[in-house]
Amino acid sequence: MISLSDNFTLHEFTRSQTAARLGKRVTIDLTSLEYANLVTLCKEVLQPLRGLLYRPITITSGYRPAWLNEAVGGSDHSAHLEGRAADIVISGMTPRDVAFHLAHSGLPFDQCIVEFGQWVHISIAKPGEEPRRQVLTASKRGNATIYKDGL
Ligand SMILES: [Zn+2]
Repeated sequence: MISLSDNFTLHEFTRSQTAARLGKRVTIDLTSLEYANLVTLCKEVLQPLRGLLYRPITITSGYRPAWLNEAVGGSDHSAHLEGRAADIVISGMTPRDVAFHLAHSGLPFDQCIVEFGQWVHISIAKPGEEPRRQVLTASKRGNATIYKDGL
């Protein structure tokens, strides 16, 4: 088992129900930028957030190779493709509450998006770029996804 930080393992970021349904497995090269980004995501944001909330964090989507991102309908520019994002849920907290605490922390996230009231998408900036600390709420209007600023 490969640890990314005290409470997160690589497996949590590569397991995928969609991949399983397709009969595929998500693999990642441990020398890749994507893997390095996952480590940074854990060490700089997810592990400190866990410490702040003192609750286990469940990763519902982590790293996505292109075939998986396509299968789940992710954006072509999704930070999941680069290992810079995770979708999370925390038992006993609403996604909005999780986002609220992250937004009011000093943690260096790039985007925090409450998606469809179901989970929180958290990303870090590309290496060398400043985190935007952007907080958004995504909802569906027909087939379109609408983003509004804030929670
Ligand atoms: Zn996401």
